[in-house]
Amino acid sequence: MNQLIQFSNSNTQFYFDNNFKQLSKIIDIKKAIIITDEHVHKAHAHLFKNYKVITIPAGEKHKTQATADKIIKSLIAFEADRQSVLVGVGGGVVTDITGYVAAVYMRGIQFGFVPTSILAIVDASIGGKNGIDVGVYKNLVGTIRQPSFILHDLTMLKTLPQEHWINGFAEVIKHACIKDAKMFDELHTHSLSFYQKNKKALADLIYRNTMIKIKVVQKDEFEKGDRKLLNFGHTFGHAIETKYKLLHGHAISIGMVFAAHLSIENTGFKKLQSVIDLFQKYQLPTSLQKIDTQKVFDILKMDKKRSNHFMNFILLEKIGKAVILPIALTELAKKINQN
Ligand code: NAD
Repeated sequence: MNQLIQFSNSNTQFYFDNNFKQLSKIIDIKKAIIITDEHVHKAHAHLFKNYKVITIPAGEKHKTQATADKIIKSLIAFEADRQSVLVGVGGGVVTDITGYVAAVYMRGIQFGFVPTSILAIVDASIGGKNGIDVGVYKNLVGTIRQPSFILHDLTMLKTLPQEHWINGFAEVIKHACIKDAKMFDELHTHSLSFYQKNKKALADLIYRNTMIKIKVVQKDEFEKGDRKLLNFGHTFGHAIETKYKLLHGHAISIGMVFAAHLSIENTGFKKLQSVIDLFQKYQLPTSLQKIDTQKVFDILKMDKKRSNHFMNFILLEKIGKAVILPIALTELAKKINQN
């Protein structure tokens, strides 16, 4: 199914549940330059035969300006010009860096994505935020610019390692918690292996999650309001992610459970156990043993959402409805100690 989605300054054409081979019909192969990483390249080399390809090393630690510089040098070697189209084929690291390079090369050239991880499909590829990390600062440098197309080929997920399936489902559960109570119940009745075996159910789940993210971004492209809700679980999650070297999905799952705990006293939220059960069902962690509470609090209080002695925290009022409330730093410190 194809759908043209309008954002404030530009449109993105979505090709849902499609096939990589369609890429040659969407863009002129001669103008296309694929950017991918070594794992995706190795797993799907046959798809890239007729394309110019730039392959970067895999992993978050390569989402840096140094990698962007190498890509730019390769673009020069390919004599890429303003008519060239960059196509990021890979997980969120590849889509983020491709969008970033496309925004700065020759002051901006066209780009599109074929996201190949669950996380990149339902989250990272959508919304136009692209960028790189600088030292410990994630996504510190970047741009907001929409891709001209996003193509899904779910058969490429066959080679996605299991831990990255699990990681991506943390964002799916996040969407259910903040926006879709019906999907929350559906996730409870099924399991990860059900979605891995049932292509139609997976395609449907991906479509619904993509639309949740699209609608939130359409309403608030520049993160003045509703888009902040997508950060549910991220304040505490980011505080433990780098320190304990957790996968992003694992860190935010623990962060979402932390926020659900906080919600009980602050919004009257009643479904904490159901949230915990769902994460456990999808093999995601819900707490961390033995954390350095002072260190975690010190990192957490530097979060961008802090305002003086309060943190604007994303909480659940009920399943499917998130709110932002100021929580005193003293209360946060207390909760971390109880964790
Ligand atoms: P990733 O890009 O590192 O991919 C995870 C791993 O899976 C990598 O080793 C990759 O090589 C491999 N992989 C991906 N697809 C594969 C496939 N089909 N077959 C075999 N291997 C495959 O990480 P990710 O979890 O996809 O994305 C995380 C990144 O996304 C982070 O950098 C994060 O900051 C970013 N992100 C961006 C946004 C945004 O709005 N721009 C939102 C959320 C996350």
